[in-house]
Amino acid sequence: MASTNEERVIASVTETDCCIVGGGPAGVVLAYLLARKGIRVTLLELHMDFDRDFRGDTAHPSTLEIMDQLGLAERLHELRHTKIRQFNLQVGDDEPLTIDLSFLKTKFPYIMMVPQVHFLDFITEEAKKFPSFSLVLGANVQELIRVDGAVRGVLYRGHEDNEWHEVRAQLTVGADGRSSRVRRLAETEMVKTSPPMDVLWFRLPRRAGDPEGLAGRIRNGHILVMLDRLEEWQIAFVILKGTYHQLREAGIEQLKRLVVETDPTLQDRIDHLEDWKQVAILSVESSRVKQWYQPGLLLIGDAAHVMSPVGGVGINYAIQDAVVAANVLTAPLKAGRVQTSDLKRVQHLRTLPTRFIQAFQAVVQKRILGNALTNKQFKLPFFMRLPLLRRIPARLIAFGLWRVRVEDQK
Ligand SMILES: Cc1cc2nc3c(=O)[nH]c(=O)nc-3n(C[C@H](O)[C@H](O)[C@H](O)COP(=O)(O)OP(=O)(O)OC[C@H]3O[C@@H](n4cnc5c(N)ncnc54)[C@H](O)[C@@H]3O)c2cc1C
Repeated sequence: MASTNEERVIASVTETDCCIVGGGPAGVVLAYLLARKGIRVTLLELHMDFDRDFRGDTAHPSTLEIMDQLGLAERLHELRHTKIRQFNLQVGDDEPLTIDLSFLKTKFPYIMMVPQVHFLDFITEEAKKFPSFSLVLGANVQELIRVDGAVRGVLYRGHEDNEWHEVRAQLTVGADGRSSRVRRLAETEMVKTSPPMDVLWFRLPRRAGDPEGLAGRIRNGHILVMLDRLEEWQIAFVILKGTYHQLREAGIEQLKRLVVETDPTLQDRIDHLEDWKQVAILSVESSRVKQWYQPGLLLIGDAAHVMSPVGGVGINYAIQDAVVAANVLTAPLKAGRVQTSDLKRVQHLRTLPTRFIQAFQAVVQKRILGNALTNKQFKLPFFMRLPLLRRIPARLIAFGLWRVRVEDQK
């Protein structure tokens, strides 16, 4: 055992090329991409498994194309899943408006709904086939190791042994999500906006004859989105920011009443919702760090930019960040010479797509969702009734600002 200056006992020291903190979509995909190139990767995940509720289960066409490039799409499709080919949005009693994805020029013109835990298990099982991949579950990263002004790894506490462990690496990647500890430790500055809404998530059973895919309802100042998860609907009930406590105080019966008022077809199953314990609140945030890197350190995914749930693009963007990071950093990591300019290049390639989608989400939040929540007579803007114009957001949600591809597919 080694000791640090603070007389902290270190139970183990691991040397690796790249230490990735966080086994979400960004972290596991980056770990897979680097390991397949023979780069030593240590992936540290706080939890003992990948099973977390309400984290999003969507694989958009861009993610599916990336999986296809890697030769993984076919096996991914063997996992139990549903496909969202269209989105029906009904405002009040108006004729529903349909956003159809079949026009997308891709092998995968749909959003695949696969439980995130299965997706993450699948990628990590594939990564384990490469000897340079190492996964530590129950690793709670607490500190960055700094040497001569550069980050050179992390200190984590193990869940099972409650001991301190050191991972030394030429590059550390913070992929530890929206409340990233790595980001906090790096003291990076954030640009924040405040979307006008929060989201309540819960599940209700699906019944024979229910529509498939994705459906949205706007009625009487309420918004409800339903995502098809085979036997159940995952439901997002959008509320005005800051009104959660008021609603909670009014009681679960009030929430049930509002849900049924927004979508009367849920009347026959709303009693499955019995307790606030079944409801998860997502405090909607949209933010990004000004600088994604420091010498020896890179932030990607939600750690670099927390996404609003509008369009469900968070997973997509996290995976695109991972692909771009692997494209740029594979050669420097192999050569053992990651320069700060390489890390800067990753940010350079991802900043515009991130800022663009966040600007798009801000417009939807303000002009559509914000209005729908405050105006009971809300009507969709006229342009949304024009099928050709509806293709623009559909394309943006499917691929982001542009497609990201894995370079050097050998
Ligand atoms: C309620 C909800 C619903 C969502 N729905 C969707 C959706 O439908 N579609 C979509 O695309 N996106 C959705 N999102 C957003 C999506 O979950 C994120 O954008 C995406 O998961 C970001 O991936 P990531 O890898 O950057 O971070 P995360 O998925 O957040 O992964 C971060 C990982 O880091 C680990 N970690 C944290 N701290 C530490 C630490 N100190 N040490 C070690 N590990 C640590 C965490 O346990 C976690 O596994 C939703 C988010 C929420 C909260």
